[in-house]
Amino acid sequence: MIIILRPDCGKPQIKALEDWLHRQGLHTQLTVGDSGIVLGVIGDASGVSAESLLAMDGVRGVHRVQEAHKLASRRARPQPTVVEVGAARIGGGRFCLIAGPCSVESAEQMRSVAESVREAGADMLRGGVFKPRTSPYAFQGLGAEGAELLAQAGRHAALPTVTEITDVSQLETLRQADMLQVGARNMQNFELLKALGRQKKPVLLKRGAGATLQELLMSAEYILSGGNGQVVLCERGIRTHETATRATLDLSAVPVLRELTHLPVIVDPSHAAGASRLVEPLALAAVAAGADGLMIEVHGDPAHALSDGAQALTPEAFARLASKVRALRECLEKTEAER
Ligand code: PEP
Ligand code: MN
Repeated sequence: MIIILRPDCGKPQIKALEDWLHRQGLHTQLTVGDSGIVLGVIGDASGVSAESLLAMDGVRGVHRVQEAHKLASRRARPQPTVVEVGAARIGGGRFCLIAGPCSVESAEQMRSVAESVREAGADMLRGGVFKPRTSPYAFQGLGAEGAELLAQAGRHAALPTVTEITDVSQLETLRQADMLQVGARNMQNFELLKALGRQKKPVLLKRGAGATLQELLMSAEYILSGGNGQVVLCERGIRTHETATRATLDLSAVPVLRELTHLPVIVDPSHAAGASRLVEPLALAAVAAGADGLMIEVHGDPAHALSDGAQALTPEAFARLASKVRALRECLEKTEAER
């Protein structure tokens, strides 16, 4: 960390600042030049907030040399992290196609959708059982019964499963799930993130609708710093002034996160689009942008889905999308190999 001091900063102020930093276990190195006074801070300053330093007498600016998301940072770990979920692999060139309904509704629905998405080439099965709904009167999910149905369908189709956890208390109920999803609304539920850091299941961390990429990385940092390195980031659309879509898919998140972190990045075009007709073009754009995977909502009868029917693809539409994704990836890989 580098602290820029005001040109008129006196010796007593510098001494007070140095003493304070030393009490935090840090070393300091003062440089007085013609163009200003700079205090270099040596040691792990991640626990020192820039705001508290800026509030001190004589401090003009604070620059961190090390990123705040130090465990998630690509600088700390240049090679990509590959997350393992059952037989599925996400990251480091391994692409993962996750598909399934917004909500688990019945045994028959899950069995049939699991079979068809597997047939179409999906690598994982999704299905929500604890649903974060805007209205308390909307379908809230089947809870424990749904968790059992998801696990059965996953076993039936030989697909690993992912489902959303909305509270720490659901860990036991969701013990059969292969991966736990933190939804957009809970991206900054720090107690949930800490609890997920203490357990071993891989985590799919969705970006909050109002969150910056830096905030997403700091949320991932909560899980990583707890001891769980198996984290996948998911761009699912952010809230902007645009009303033509449910959210605005921020595809720049994919290449930007690629620069900032070694963690895999997948894209959920379904929740961004809010309309099934927009899912395919957005999914293909995400693949072209370099996403490590896609999460697509699929329902056997979208018109009667208990949640998010408008954005659900039919199994047939999903099969068409999956084959286009494969063709696009092959084309990109071939062009890359020829270069
Ligand atoms: C979901 O995946 O069903 C969901 C609720 O997504 P998000 O948290 O991105 O809104
Ligand atoms: Mn949904």
